Amino acid sequence: MDEATKVKDIIEDIVAANRILAAENVVDAFGHVSARHPTKPGHYFLSRALPPELITAEDIMEFTFDGKVLNGDTRKPYLEKDIHGALYEARPDVKSVVHNHSRSVIPYTVTNEKLRPIVHSCATIGCHVPVWDAQTKFGDTNLLISNMEMGRDFAKVLADNNTALMRGHGCTVIGRSVREAVYTAVYLEVNAGLQMQATRFPPVKYLTDGEIKLISQRLADAKPNEGYDRAWEYWCRHAGVEARYRTADSV
Ligand code: MN
Repeated sequence: MDEATKVKDIIEDIVAANRILAAENVVDAFGHVSARHPTKPGHYFLSRALPPELITAEDIMEFTFDGKVLNGDTRKPYLEKDIHGALYEARPDVKSVVHNHSRSVIPYTVTNEKLRPIVHSCATIGCHVPVWDAQTKFGDTNLLISNMEMGRDFAKVLADNNTALMRGHGCTVIGRSVREAVYTAVYLEVNAGLQMQATRFPPVKYLTDGEIKLISQRLADAKPNEGYDRAWEYWCRHAGVEARYRTADSV
């Protein structure tokens, strides 16, 4: 598959991802999705600053990890774009990043209650969901990650996990594909809501680390158009966008 087709496919998936996350109430007027460039691993794609539901392929911009805009693009990027650059820099395995303020997650960013996988479909949020607090290193801020120093500090807290929460703000999810990142972002919100209901009836039996690993591996090993792709096709229909059919060598 040539570079131009790979780029076109990844941009199509970023647009669909934005529409899906809006339809599933994971993003609202705020939140963003990026993808690593398929052939230039030091670059990534992210929309200009727009509400996710309004994004089309023409809105996608290209950046270097440290936030330089490429191709002479002078449009306004998201203030929090360095969340994305810092995670691509720190984690070569990361191919996509979703940042959002989904509502059920917020209580877990401001209390000592740990967000943990409670149901099979939510396993990919991972065994450990750390919480980053801007206050720890930066004192009083507007809570937004607005430079690479904050982005790199956040990347250290996310470490090798799939998700991390941000105190009084939201969460960020990584994926080895756009589809995986979208899946985990949707189910992070689902898990947070279900966990809040279940904890009314303690004790709660959470998934074990072994169960989390087995479920995540099964999804990672799925053939094209199974696993994450099956969820993607459903969510695309739900969001009113056409699902791109994957082949064995496509992104
Ligand atoms: Mn934010």
